[in-house]
Amino acid sequence: MRISMKTLDAVEKYNWPYYRTKVCELTLNYDCNARCVFCYSSPEMEEWKNKNRLDIKTAASYMNNSYKTGSRVLQIIGGEPTVYPWLSEIIKIGKKIGYPVIQIVTNGQKASDFNYLKNLKQSGLNSITFSIHAPDKKLHDSIVGVRGAFSKIIKALENSIKLEIYPSVGTAVNALNYKKIPALVKFLHDRYNIESYHIIAMHFIGAAGKNEKELSVSYSQTLPYIKDTLKFLSSKRIMPISALLSNYQPCLLPGCEHIISDWKIPFCDDDLYLPEKVYKDSMYSMITDTLRMKGVNCEKCIYSGICAGFERRYYDIYGDKEFKPLKSAAKPISMGVFYSR
Ligand code: SF4
Repeated sequence: MRISMKTLDAVEKYNWPYYRTKVCELTLNYDCNARCVFCYSSPEMEEWKNKNRLDIKTAASYMNNSYKTGSRVLQIIGGEPTVYPWLSEIIKIGKKIGYPVIQIVTNGQKASDFNYLKNLKQSGLNSITFSIHAPDKKLHDSIVGVRGAFSKIIKALENSIKLEIYPSVGTAVNALNYKKIPALVKFLHDRYNIESYHIIAMHFIGAAGKNEKELSVSYSQTLPYIKDTLKFLSSKRIMPISALLSNYQPCLLPGCEHIISDWKIPFCDDDLYLPEKVYKDSMYSMITDTLRMKGVNCEKCIYSGICAGFERRYYDIYGDKEFKPLKSAAKPISMGVFYSR
């Protein structure tokens, strides 16, 4: 079994910048070939029918504009971007513009076809985030709503390793899978040498909002498993490409500030292009402004001035007792990330 290239090898091979740059997040489409129970994008097939795909010309102008204003990471998302018929053209345009990092976020169903992925690699793709939500087929397939999905995404991951496309893994934490997060990360690290993980606490929007009863779980319940996962990764002395956790706050995991993305009010933001709307330099501010709130005690916290708080819907269900103000910064856990937000 081949193993994944190390982060620093990918940085050398693809001439990636040695610092975090602005991201051009490009949403090509909303349609998808899976039915994830937590999908924040669009929960129903019917809703996709009324949503446009981005046309190539508009996508090219967005990519150009974002590059000119500092983006060096092109992150192509959906829906499912491999369902978009002109994905390889979009990647070629991104490469021609000059993006050193060209990444897709995918459920891996189409990328299980080696020749399909080889074509994307030849177009300029050099990084993939695979959305894997459990270490076994029964649970992963039931979370993404497609029988055989786990076998396909593992095949796609192996294809990316063969093609020397840098792989990372994104996982949405919810009530169905939180106890299995340590086993998932151990499996992917020990078998494939994966260094980069993006472990995301559930957002209560889209399908997740509709399946809230089945999916919601408190931070107090999930944190022991998240801590076990971090302990394991720290013991392996890996170098993830970017922050490991998303939608967590420092008071929940003191000393992990440097491995959590998106907890701060952004002072320098990314671009988000949707088929129907543009958030120029305001991707995270939009999330912060619309989704999040602070607790009454937050003003006593050392991070009060920079923390964006927690999700409003989370507060409606669990209250704010878990968010205990910090009086001082804790010693950082011994794990670096290549770059962080
Ligand atoms: S400001 Fe509030 S939510 Fe943020 S770290 Fe402090 S207590 Fe937690």
